[in-house]
Formats: sequence, structure tokens, C-alpha cells
Amino acid sequence: MSSVNKSTQPATLFDGPYYLSIAGKLLASKDSFDVVNPATGKVFAKAPSGTAGQLEEAITAAKTAFKAWSALKYEERQQYLNAYADELEKHRDQLARLLTEEQGKPLTTMAEPEVDQSISWIRQIAARPIPVEILEETDDHLVELHHTPLGVVGAITPWNFPVLLALWKVAPALIAGNTMVIKPSPFTPLSTLRFGQIAQSVLPAGVLSVVSGGNELGPQLTGHPDIAKISFTGSTETGKHVLRSAAGTIKRVTLELGGNDAAIVLPDADYRSIIPQLFWGAIGNSGQWCVGIKRLYVHRSFHREFVEAFVDYAKQQKLGDGFDPTVAIGPVQNKMQFDKVKSFLDDIKANGQKIVLGGDIDESRPGYFIPVTVVDNPSENARIVQEEQFGPIVPIIVYDDVEDAIERTNNSPFGLGGSVWGRDTKAAVAVAYRLETGMVWVNEIHTLGVDFPFGGHKQSGLGTEHGNEGRQLFTNPKTVLIRK
Ligand code: NAD
Repeated sequence: MSSVNKSTQPATLFDGPYYLSIAGKLLASKDSFDVVNPATGKVFAKAPSGTAGQLEEAITAAKTAFKAWSALKYEERQQYLNAYADELEKHRDQLARLLTEEQGKPLTTMAEPEVDQSISWIRQIAARPIPVEILEETDDHLVELHHTPLGVVGAITPWNFPVLLALWKVAPALIAGNTMVIKPSPFTPLSTLRFGQIAQSVLPAGVLSVVSGGNELGPQLTGHPDIAKISFTGSTETGKHVLRSAAGTIKRVTLELGGNDAAIVLPDADYRSIIPQLFWGAIGNSGQWCVGIKRLYVHRSFHREFVEAFVDYAKQQKLGDGFDPTVAIGPVQNKMQFDKVKSFLDDIKANGQKIVLGGDIDESRPGYFIPVTVVDNPSENARIVQEEQFGPIVPIIVYDDVEDAIERTNNSPFGLGGSVWGRDTKAAVAVAYRLETGMVWVNEIHTLGVDFPFGGHKQSGLGTEHGNEGRQLFTNPKTVLIRK
């Protein structure tokens, strides 16, 4: 393993080589792994394969850095985070381009907004201290509630929004006084390695380290005695492994997992006007959102017209390389996901469900392109209705009775998000209140905010991110009882 003199970094930070960031240093690794551009299917860069020893080094450095970092005043940490946001802003264009190259999402409509939102999020979170609460005060007694930092937080992130989902963890963890080690998805390590590298020029050594490598680094983090908390975003199956592994040392755990979000379009909805929102709610990021619409329930009274209008809208959207400014929908991010989404198409065909748009993959085309596919009224027990497709396929399901639509929506092991659409807002809200999900939107979709808790019910997660609730999960509550 060799340390890299920062002055010998490549002239353009965003071309390779890429380094691990550990203890304030940029480190190469003896092995590397390929990073594929999903729009071409070709390897375009190598990422360092961090070893178990390097991850250990990052955890030790984070533990050492915790002492001084947690002892800083809030305002001092705030200054650091704002300086970090400023530095990221300088590299905004390159970060967004790298994100498109490794993830596939369209540059101007998805990658740039992801980077911008991440930077804004850091500043907003840095401006929200968690105050000491006075729980009781009498002449001779005082009870205070403090929120103290936990120690070293391990962050494990997926490949669908690699920049945003990681920085959603970095900002609240660091501002609360914790230090952090991030392990990005092996499918999209580069943007995380770069923002980790940028952090080394601003933050004290060891406060934020990034170690890329294979999935095996995950269990090392989740089982490590010096990690106080795991903040994990990924699939429900991996979330279960994380929870088991964290039990050994009673770690704090936040899990943001999979979903099977329903949108219920009520009988009185002005369905034509909401088709763009429903379409992008389902197909944005090529359907690879945890809170994407994965089941669309529409009332029988306008089902035919709805499907027609939805398909017409879908046909106007171009699929292709995210660097092409006329492209609205990029490829699926990786071969594993491509094969998984393909298996949904095979299942739909094998079971005679009706495809009204798409369905056939052009296998001669390089890259992982799957055309937008609309399935008309599959049966409720079809795989495409029951499981998370995480790709550009939308099932449009007919219902007759709103009670039945609510029942079918709730009849799921998932409970992440959902949406309800109707002209009578009061009636739509009444339906929204009955959905068993962590978030539900009424006549809008995917509005997010630093003050709005974001998390899943049932097997969609544990704990939450954002809001006071989410920020406090990066702290230990500490009650101080004082006899005056
Ligand atoms: P994944 O579970 O396969 O991987 C997520 C991360 O876990 C990766 O960094 C991976 O390397 C790591 N990992 C793999 N095995 C591990 C182990 N045994 N222990 C610890 N870490 C391990 O998920 P993915 O395919 O990258 O992401 C897609 C999934 O993420 C979807 O199910 C999606 O719904 C979910 N997701 C949820 C949210 C949310 O906020 N709820 C947001 C985005 C994505």
C-alpha cells in the first residue's frame, strides 16, 4: 500500500487514478476492480480494492479523530461542514459527470440535481443544532436532556443515488460530533471516492474516510467493536444481515431498505393532468428508486383512457446515454440488476400478462438498456405486483372499490412510501392516513426535506433519516439530573 502525495494528484481530479481516503491520506491499494459505464457496458475506470487491513486503519483513525472532533464547539463543526460544501461546489460539474458515467443517470435532469441537492443538504443540516432540552426545572431540581455523539459511524450505501444517499449520512453524523467510515457500493464507488478525497483537503484527518472494495468489507464494518452505529441503505435482504451482525456489539442501526410503493389514483382524480408526475414517480432514475411508484392502482371508470394516455406520454421519452441532452431515461445501473429486471419481463410473458408498451430488450445494443414497459392489469399475485422490480417496468392495476385498493396496498411486507391522487383533497388525505408506510404523498410525489423524516415501516426499514428524529439517531440521549 502506498500513500500518495496530494500534490501529485491527477491534474483533473475526476480522471483516474482513484484513491482510498484513510486517516487524511490518499492511499492506493494493491488490488483494484473494474468500474463499468452502464451506458456502454465497458470498463472505464478501476477502483481501489481496499483490504481488511485498510478498513481497520480507517476505523482506528476515525476512533482517534473522534476525541478532538466531538470536543469541538458546534459552530466549529458547522464551519468545517460549510467549508466542505463550498469545496464540493467547486467540483460540482465534475462530480455530476462522474456520477452519470458510473451510474448511468441523465446528466442535467438527474446527476446535477443530485449533486446540488447533496451540497445544499450539508449546509441545511449544519444549520440545525440539536438543543439541550430542559425536562424539568424547580427551585431545587433540574433535569436536562443532552444528545451526545455516538463515536464512529459506519455508512454502507447502494448504487442508485450514490452521492445523495451517502451525504445524507455524512452531514448529520459529523455535525453531531461523530466520525465516519463509508463503504460505497462496488458498482458505483468513484463519486464517493472523489468526495472522500475532497473531504481530506478540508476536514481533520480521520473524520471522514472512504474505503471501496467488495461486499466482504460490509460485514467487517457491521461486526466491528469500534463502530458505534451502522447507517445502511440497501436491500431488505442485506439489511437483515446487517441487523444480525450488529447485534454482537449492540450497535445502533438505521436501515433504509426496499419498498413496493403504491400510487392510488382515486375515482375523482383528474388523471390526465397527473400522468407526468406518475410517470416520473415510477420511471425516474430508470425505476431505481427506493420510493419509486412500483404499483399503480387506477379506478376502473377511466382505466382504458389512463393506460392509453400513460403509454402515449411514455413513448415521448427517449432512452439512451445519460450524456446525451435529449435523453430522459438512462440504462439500468449494472448487469446484475439488468438480469433481475429481465427476469421480471420473462415472468410477465410466461404468465400471459398483457404488455402494452416495451417488454423486448434489444440484446444487440451495448449497455444495460431496458425499454419502459407498461403491464396492463396483471393479477394481484403476479411477481411484478408483489415484489420490488427496481427497474423501468410499471404495472397498472385496476380496482373497483377504494377499500380494496387500500387493502391491496397494505397487504405487503414493505411499507416505505406511497401516494394518493384525487380532486377531493380531504378524501385523498383520509386514504393516505390509512396506508401503512413511513411516507405518503397526497397529490404530489417525492417531495423531500431535511426536516421531514424519511424511513420505512415493516420490512422497509428501521429508524429514519432526516427530521429531528433522524438527526437524533446519530446521538445517544443522555439525561442529566441535578439536585441544585
Ligand atoms: P444491496 O443491499 O445489494 O447493497 C447495499 C450495500 O450493502 C452495498 O454497499 C453492498 O456492498 C453492501 N453489502 C452487501 N452485502 C453486505 C453485507 N453482508 N453486510 C454489509 N453490507 C453489505 O443493495 P443495492 O442493490 O445496492 O441497492 C438497491 C436496494 O436498495 C433496493 O432494494 C432499494 O429499494 C434499496 N434502497 C433503499 C433506500 C431507502 O432509503 N429506503 C434508498 C435507496 C435504495
